[in-house]
Amino acid sequence: MSKVLETLKALDTNAKPKEELIAELLERRRNIDEQLLRLGYVLEVHAKRSREPARKYCKYCEVEGHDGRAHRFQGKVKHKFTAEEQAEHGLR
Ligand SMILES: [Zn+2]
Repeated sequence: MSKVLETLKALDTNAKPKEELIAELLERRRNIDEQLLRLGYVLEVHAKRSREPARKYCKYCEVEGHDGRAHRFQGKVKHKFTAEEQAEHGLR
């Protein structure tokens, strides 16, 4: 059985509070990251990830492609972009 499956199985029967489990898993992940780093693996993975465009989601327009920060110029009352605003600011 793989390490991941063992971990998941252990979690199923674990009655610890969620926060504690999360802290534990983060600690485990940190250890794994360190081991991977020693093997020269994790940097490669991160490098690949950083080249992918971040998935942004806009809660005002309810679309992906940009996020709420794109609405900063609208001031306090933010609203869905109009077609004109989208064209003007190069958004979709
Ligand atoms: Zn938007």
